[in-house]
Amino acid sequence: MPELITADEFHDLKVPRNPIVPFIEGDGVGPELWRAARPILEDASRKTGREISFLEVPAGEKAVKKAGSPLPQETLEALRRHRVSIKGPLATPVGGGIRSLNVAIRQALDLYACVRPVTYIPGVPSPVKRPELVDVVIFRENTEDVYAGLEWAAESPEAEALRVFLQEKLGTNLSPETALGLKPMSAFRSKRLVRLALKWALKERRPSLTLVHKGNIMKYTEGAFRRWGYEVAEKEFPQETVTEALAQDPETRLIVKDRIADNMFMQTLLRPAEYSAVATPNLNGDYLSDALAAQTGGLGVSPGANIGDGLAVFEATHGTAPKYAGKNIANPTSLILSGALMLEHLGWRDAGFLVRKAVALSLGKGILTQDLARQIPGAKSFGTREFAEMVHKELQAL
Ligand code: NAP
Repeated sequence: MPELITADEFHDLKVPRNPIVPFIEGDGVGPELWRAARPILEDASRKTGREISFLEVPAGEKAVKKAGSPLPQETLEALRRHRVSIKGPLATPVGGGIRSLNVAIRQALDLYACVRPVTYIPGVPSPVKRPELVDVVIFRENTEDVYAGLEWAAESPEAEALRVFLQEKLGTNLSPETALGLKPMSAFRSKRLVRLALKWALKERRPSLTLVHKGNIMKYTEGAFRRWGYEVAEKEFPQETVTEALAQDPETRLIVKDRIADNMFMQTLLRPAEYSAVATPNLNGDYLSDALAAQTGGLGVSPGANIGDGLAVFEATHGTAPKYAGKNIANPTSLILSGALMLEHLGWRDAGFLVRKAVALSLGKGILTQDLARQIPGAKSFGTREFAEMVHKELQAL
């Protein structure tokens, strides 16, 4: 009988050998990508002595048809109860009351860290000369900064009231017809993000964690993120971490450093090998993770996860790619690798390794979907289904 995943008071997961894992198929290319990924994840689990039971929970267009809502309450409850889930991309309903279903899920479950590992797989075309130097995991704050969604249109009564308040109380001098947004960044939410990143980097024996911020200009938000980040390292991990200025050569402790965001974009192009883990506020992380993903093959091969305390939803980083929906063209690698990440999160490193290895073997043999094949003159392009079958075959042979 399939069993529930549970967690202890420290949010550490207790994973049975036969867990129930909910999945959301998603919209657009979601269903065909899930059909491609699912048997690979099931087989990798089986090959390592486990049995995963996927449970479909409705969301998106399918849920509107079935339950009259794109994100039924029962879906959120199932994601919460089962703790670890996987989802395909969801379209943002046009003109609906929800800003984004993805953001709604992250907020409802307080999945405060968007985790994006970016690693190069040989065989994947890249616009840079040494893509193999990129091996970094980005921890991006998922609930504050621009994701707080606090903004008001120019000329709206709200923006005007806020403008007048700021003028009267704080002496600002903003023009009428100014659109206004708030950039909230709290000690609690910044620190928990950095804590999660530090714990992960220490567990994975990464050499450094870089705090990426724009604190030279936004001193009390981005600058505070940097300060709070260093505080977490110094107060909570004093033995295991050291700041860059005090690091020795060679250094066995985790080096905590910081970079201003614009410099970081240059650094990741010129000296990517110096960065192995990053913790950053929402907007910086949004740009940085896509820019880094571009160096290693783009959205089609970039996995991701949204993680909170004892809860996680794994997902491809791309959207629903509507123009490819139902055409057997989209690249399933991002979702397959998100699944590998999920298996590792369950503590099944061996199963995750098998999936990664099978994907790497296929890509290394030139089995490419059109997003990658079109970048290599004369390369043959495989359909979503055919690509996944090749990966599955590699997995079965391991
Ligand atoms: P998108 O769906 O990611 O597609 C943008 C482009 O990226 C595609 O046109 C395609 O590029 C490429 N692409 C994306 N996924 C691919 C794949 N698996 N294989 C090959 N190529 C892929 O972004 P969008 O068009 O901005 O958004 C469409 C919908 O998705 C929106 O409703 C948006 O809200 C939603 N969305 C959902 C999520 C999520 O669920 N987490 C994330 C982002 C967006 P080419 O045209 O160059 O071939």
